[in-house]
Amino acid sequence: MARVFNFSAGPAMMPLPVLEEIAKEVVDYRGCGMSVMEMSHRSKVYQQIIDEAEADLRDLMGIPDNYKVLFVQGGATLEFAMIPMNLMKNGVADYIVTGAWSKKAASEAKKYGKVNVIATSEDKNYSYIPDVSDLPIDDDADYVYICENETIHGTTYKELPNTKGKILVSDQSSMFLSKPVDVTKYGLIYGGVQKNVGPAGLAIVIIREDLIREDLPATVPTYCSFATHSENGSMYNTPNCWAIYCCGKVFKYLKSLGGLSAMDEINKKKAAILYDYLDSSKLFKGTVEKEYRSLMNVPFVTGDADKDAAVVAATKAAGFDNLKGHRSVGGLRASIYNAMPIEGVQALVDFLKDYEAKNA
Ligand SMILES: *Cc1c(COP(=O)(O)O)cnc(C)c1O
Repeated sequence: MARVFNFSAGPAMMPLPVLEEIAKEVVDYRGCGMSVMEMSHRSKVYQQIIDEAEADLRDLMGIPDNYKVLFVQGGATLEFAMIPMNLMKNGVADYIVTGAWSKKAASEAKKYGKVNVIATSEDKNYSYIPDVSDLPIDDDADYVYICENETIHGTTYKELPNTKGKILVSDQSSMFLSKPVDVTKYGLIYGGVQKNVGPAGLAIVIIREDLIREDLPATVPTYCSFATHSENGSMYNTPNCWAIYCCGKVFKYLKSLGGLSAMDEINKKKAAILYDYLDSSKLFKGTVEKEYRSLMNVPFVTGDADKDAAVVAATKAAGFDNLKGHRSVGGLRASIYNAMPIEGVQALVDFLKDYEAKNA
């Protein structure tokens, strides 16, 4: 077995102890004589798997009783549509556009109503988070939308926007479970799980109960109504049984490490190793304003596309995979989610230092 240090933005690394536990259960889940992949989602055994996953997630995040947890297929992208379909009562929403993912979410929402872009950092290729303390919130806005960690551009919010009493909706795909969050500050939190939790094919939606509506237009697909998932325990139809099972393992693993405060400590330490090096480097520089740097996705460049490509090739040859930056930013990007060990980041920095010394 040879595992590389995988810096992929997603699907991304999962914790090795979790993969090993899954491997042990893959053929025969706890004496059932079958795999979780082969099991009826209506079975008692599976019901216990999904119930435990939800209970552990509630425990990890401190999700209050008046919030529902939904396991939905279609990834984060389907949520770009489900959110306006379900939450737009007045047909208006305010979006803060800080990168590729909030931009996509805003353009999808336009299919369902009026979208106001109330702040954006597009002027500097999304390298910062705009001032969100006093925004022109529309009186009729049904919600204010943010992408709290922009995976491609590598930015994150320091403070949540002042929504002036409106509901806050947050895409946390690439920061899900990376640190404690106060769920009560949000109407809805969601994320695709393949960045920081488990295998692709699942989004987790945490929604305040009173925002779940029964009176949606008849043209909204049954699957796309939050009420459908809420009323049926995320099993209106066959859920992504396998991904839910794997996520449940990760929840237990994170609890065993001390929960989200512990993850936050580790993630800060890990990111500092990389950012401190980038700040001292003469070859590389980070692309994001310091205050708004993501702890999860770290884009950096040499300033020369050919040099960038040479570094990416060298890292790959040395056993560091998936460091090529997204084409809209260029350069390199290291995604250092929960599952990336501190040793992985240290090894990368050691490699880059050495590379810099040899190529000065
Ligand atoms: C990856 C990503 C998405 C899209 O996720 P899919 O599951 O592929 O639909 C949306 N938002 C953010 C912040 C992401 O990182």
